[in-house]
Amino acid sequence: MNSFISYWITIFSSYGWFLLIPLIERIWYIHKQPFFRSGLVSDFIHTYQVAIFQFILATSSPILVEGILTTSIAINIFPSQGDGFLQNSLANQSLLINLISLIIVGEIAFYTMHYYCHKIPFLWEFHRVHHSSVTVDSFSTSRFHLFDRLLFNLPLLVFMAYFSPNSNAIIFYFFFRGFMDRYIHSNINGPRWTHKFMLSSPHFHRWHHTPDPAVRDHNFSGDFIFLDLLFGTAYDPDPKDKPPPSKFGEPGYTNNFFIQQLMPFIFLYKKTKTLLKN
Ligand SMILES: [Zn+2]
Ligand SMILES: [Zn+2]
Repeated sequence: MNSFISYWITIFSSYGWFLLIPLIERIWYIHKQPFFRSGLVSDFIHTYQVAIFQFILATSSPILVEGILTTSIAINIFPSQGDGFLQNSLANQSLLINLISLIIVGEIAFYTMHYYCHKIPFLWEFHRVHHSSVTVDSFSTSRFHLFDRLLFNLPLLVFMAYFSPNSNAIIFYFFFRGFMDRYIHSNINGPRWTHKFMLSSPHFHRWHHTPDPAVRDHNFSGDFIFLDLLFGTAYDPDPKDKPPPSKFGEPGYTNNFFIQQLMPFIFLYKKTKTLLKN
């Protein structure tokens, strides 16, 4: 791919969706929601961690932690000769095979990690940061504890470091994922027929952000919903039968980016102390 095109696709993945989707969600919305809402500043910091790394490392190209990790796993963990079983085998495959592999592995990794983050109390304390936002809109997409974000991405990064998908496929995949992640968190009244094609929607993901654990423990998928359908964890009532949810998150949870990083440790410390007392 032309380096000019790939540069701009990468830039658009990082910044473009962030600007475009909020515009659409002001016009074509599920519920009327204020633009200036609590936690907005914190969500901006979550979104622009890439730019913050760029600034700290004084470089002009976007520094993705995922990119650095993938390279270091490939160099330090896997055989440097690249002669492991099927190692680097995606590098010479077609773009389509590469994209399908990334989508399937990405979804399996996301669904599995997400499911266990809801089921294991220790992991939930980290994932709770993502669920704490009382407003679900495109700005709340990136609100993740750093450890949680790493956990969700690690299996795919290991896969990429070993099978070396080609760089065009990686660029297209993250371009698409950048759009879908923001779109499904947005307040856009998007169509639900996309579910027939296994594509998620804002309606589908909003149920996952309701505070009721009985409802919240559904819809673990990322962009494609086939695993929720396969494992019976999809919850998708027709808006005519049940209005889309309008209450989300945990009102008392901190909106401070830095305190959010400490919260799981504070909670776990308190829990251990109580356990030791009894
Ligand atoms: Zn979740
Ligand atoms: Zn979410």
